[in-house]
Amino acid sequence: MLSDVLREALSDPVTQDEALYILNKVQTIENFLELAKVASKVRDDEVGAVFKFDGFIGSVTPCTTNPPCKYCSRSTGNRPDFAEKPLTTEEIELGARLIDSTGTKRVELGGGTLWSGAGEKVTEAVKAVKKVSSMDIWINVGPALNKDDLIRVKELGVREVCSSLETINPKVFKEAKPGDSLEARMKLAEEINEVGLGLKSVMMVGLGSSYEDYVKHIFWFKKFENLSSISITGLRPIPGTPFQNRPMANPLEVAKVGAVARLVLRDVDVGFGGIMNDPRLLPLWIMAGANRAIHLGAHVHRFWSTPIRHPNTFVEKHGDIEFINMLPLTTRLVREMGMEADVE
Ligand code: SF4
Repeated sequence: MLSDVLREALSDPVTQDEALYILNKVQTIENFLELAKVASKVRDDEVGAVFKFDGFIGSVTPCTTNPPCKYCSRSTGNRPDFAEKPLTTEEIELGARLIDSTGTKRVELGGGTLWSGAGEKVTEAVKAVKKVSSMDIWINVGPALNKDDLIRVKELGVREVCSSLETINPKVFKEAKPGDSLEARMKLAEEINEVGLGLKSVMMVGLGSSYEDYVKHIFWFKKFENLSSISITGLRPIPGTPFQNRPMANPLEVAKVGAVARLVLRDVDVGFGGIMNDPRLLPLWIMAGANRAIHLGAHVHRFWSTPIRHPNTFVEKHGDIEFINMLPLTTRLVREMGMEADVE
């Protein structure tokens, strides 16, 4: 019975069979509420009722994945920030100052995959942030860092590095990311773990993976002793991309997968990202056991389009970059949900 499995999950991690059983069984609001109640309690018990908001500075590297991933806006040809116009060192420094001024405690340096190697660019970006702020830094530039780069950024004080597989199913990966390499991403994850950096990773719901794939993926995370954080995203079919006619991921499915990850992984940070970075969905993520988010705090991007403006959000243009601070909105939402916001 679902209730029995969930009752035991309050004190002990669920098994692979139980994780699959939960994903299959939770198909009604009543069952989802039962799962959410347990996932939130496990979050509160294991990591505390404190919600972390990561800042974001990007893109610090261009992307040379060819062809671009089929769901990525790069495949519309409309992402200068991932091509000829990643952020300059001065812009990264300014971005760090702006984000630091919001009380944010950790920041992501994000970018595309530079297959020839991003060690130098990333090191420069880390130094630029360190020069003006004491925020914790994590890096997400795909499989463009070798082991020496990882050691170097660790020495510079970087806390976490991300290696996102999106899906652990090789067929689904190849179909969605024909210019990318699942092996390279798995190797990067192994090396991040080996050098003693926190490993962050991302899985995407709605890319074509099955429930079995999600469970396999969550249990693959378990083998990393330095796993620190995972994010669950959902497919957003962007007009003009090869995946434009695919069905958009259902946020409830995304929440289910994240809640099950919480019941398996227990004390790592769990967040929801990508299209799921909508502040209107934040209460759902909190119900599903989340304690961390990127892109719901303060961010700096190359100014290149007009994103959705959310109410109670501060937006300011500085030259060619845009600074967005959603903390006035999102910290209030987490407090109203009974959690503390981890900002200074
Ligand atoms: S590696 Fe990342 S930035 Fe590059 S095409 Fe794929 S999803 Fe887009």
